[in-house]
Amino acid sequence: MPLPEPPVLGSSALPAGSFTGCSAVVTGGGTGLGKAIAVEFARLGASVCVASRSAQHLSQGIAAIEDAGGKALAVTCDIRDAQSVKELFDTVEAEWGLPGILVNNAAANFPVPAEDMSPNGFRTVVDIVLNGTFTCSREFGRRHIANGSAASIVNIGASYAWTGGPGFAHSAAAKAGVKNLTETLAVEWGPYGIRVNGLVPGLFPHEDEVEAIRGVPGRHVDDEARCPAGRAGRPRELGWAATFLCSPFASYISGHTLVVDGANWQRRSLTQPAFVPVREQMGRGAFSLEA
Ligand code: NAP
Repeated sequence: MPLPEPPVLGSSALPAGSFTGCSAVVTGGGTGLGKAIAVEFARLGASVCVASRSAQHLSQGIAAIEDAGGKALAVTCDIRDAQSVKELFDTVEAEWGLPGILVNNAAANFPVPAEDMSPNGFRTVVDIVLNGTFTCSREFGRRHIANGSAASIVNIGASYAWTGGPGFAHSAAAKAGVKNLTETLAVEWGPYGIRVNGLVPGLFPHEDEVEAIRGVPGRHVDDEARCPAGRAGRPRELGWAATFLCSPFASYISGHTLVVDGANWQRRSLTQPAFVPVREQMGRGAFSLEA
């Protein structure tokens, strides 16, 4: 029997209006899991700003937030660029005042064996996932410290932060940095009333999944049978976790990374299954210096 399905979309774990009068910035909030998180904040009364690069993604995010009855703002922002991030927070502050919540969700990823990964590919992913998370957190944190206001940050991570991520050397290293950064900032900024937590999704298929991930051989083949939970995660389950972490009911939780994956990352076999090298898993031929 699989783990039970969660309550239906539109249910909330927190009291209605929990975030009324509060605003939140969700980076990458126009697609996939970021959009699900943005919607849940909106449903609970927050005004939500979606920040990313593509106009299409931004309008998707706005539509989803407004459909949930929320107030939405879209700001074009590349989180790799400190000036762009400054302008993001200037815009939100001018519109709604200083946002009380930051969800560092934006990321980029593509699978490739490390020996085939270009230095530029590695740098780009680290720039978005780790450096972007720092740049956004820094801008947000400095404004709250100067203002003397309490705030909450949630950094979206991945379980290969602990285990390493064969086929994802760039993203796994960056997410390990994000987990570590979460712990450092929680301690440094606790005295200012700023909580910093991590939230790690397990297998969460969604309609916006990029081709590079969707195309991984075996991806989404019989997901249910491949998880101890007997099912994949439902994006709304992450929305509930993120809103809980930012709520007053989590006011003594900081520096923690919450894994929402039905115990998938803890799985081990009684016997060692045959090892398949990453190149082979990805259907790549023999390595060549010329390729
Ligand atoms: P996704 O749909 O690919 O969304 C990534 C978002 O990041 C996009 O909206 C993109 O928007 C934005 N983004 C990328 N580069 C950016 C930049 N330089 N500046 C600003 N925004 C940028 O990803 P997802 O699957 O929803 O994943 C969301 C989070 O969960 C990520 O942190 C991911 O690592 C994590 N996660 C996901 C899974 C899963 O099963 N899906 C599992 C583990 C962890 P633009 O293109 O408009 O910039």
